[in-house]
Amino acid sequence: MGRLQKILIPSLGLVLALWFYSARDTFKPEMLRGKRVIVTGASTGIGEQMAYHLARMGAHILVTARTEAKLHNVVRRCLELGAASARFVSGTMEDTAFAQHVVREAQTSLGGLDMLILNHVGASYFGFFDGDVEHVRKLLEINFLSYVAMTTSALPMLKESEGSIVVVSSMAGKVGFPFTVPYSATKFALDGFFSSLRQEFTIQSINVSITLCILGFINTERAVRAAAEVLQERPAPRDECALEILKGAALRRRELYYRYSSTRLPLLLRDCAAELLDYLVRSRFRLPAPPGA
Ligand code: NAP
Repeated sequence: MGRLQKILIPSLGLVLALWFYSARDTFKPEMLRGKRVIVTGASTGIGEQMAYHLARMGAHILVTARTEAKLHNVVRRCLELGAASARFVSGTMEDTAFAQHVVREAQTSLGGLDMLILNHVGASYFGFFDGDVEHVRKLLEINFLSYVAMTTSALPMLKESEGSIVVVSSMAGKVGFPFTVPYSATKFALDGFFSSLRQEFTIQSINVSITLCILGFINTERAVRAAAEVLQERPAPRDECALEILKGAALRRRELYYRYSSTRLPLLLRDCAAELLDYLVRSRFRLPAPPGA
């Protein structure tokens, strides 16, 4: 038994490591050359970095967010980096009609769509849940309903191209996180909607991949400003994060974890030691003193 364990466990580890790394290495930038891609929330942060990687790979890019001046600069930079084409549409994802308008714009200007990257995120607060139901509703509209609306509008084009949907989510969408209750709720909703939709695609033999991206702490300006003081963790680089998302999308993975060590590994505890996982999540925060202390 002892000898069996000595051989079996390392062999199993080796097979898993080989499988994991060989699957990672099959990505080639050419996979995205000439592809028609929408990136939402691309005026800054991870979305902006995805646009630049796509530009270097020679994709046709349509970026969107609210701030026109920033989008203008992103488009200019994309063209400098080698994008096959780059354009923007500005507006707010609070408005479902705008979400649908962005997709129509891809149809008109790109003649179709190969990849829909849903990445934008509305502003929320970092702190104990304050009971503001209207804020939760507004955040659901931006972070969830607009994702559903864009997917619905884009589906005919994605079916035709046998394309991909990429949904940028968070560890806070897989396990309860303190201080981000409304945000976390919207990210859990994404998992429920898109994981169920993936099941239906399989049943109906619809060849459109859905990649749900589970991200840890990334060094975008917004995240660092909101959480650097309270999270006892070094943020991962946004440009590397953006590239990993695109690799996962091109390889049509069902889920993408970045960084693996701070997302996938702790989540392995979810079913067998949920309270330990909750404790590990809490221990990453410098907790405020309880009221009255
Ligand atoms: P970010 O830097 O704050 O960028 C958010 C983007 O969304 C911006 O382009 C912003 O542009 C746009 N946006 C905000 N409100 C909008 C609205 N109402 N309508 C349309 N666009 C809007 O965010 P990030 O840190 O790169 O995050 C990108 C994604 O990664 C998000 O889905 C986030 O949940 C996820 N994520 C990030 C982290 C992290 O640590 N950074 C961790 C886990 C998951 P405008 O202001 O110009 O509209």
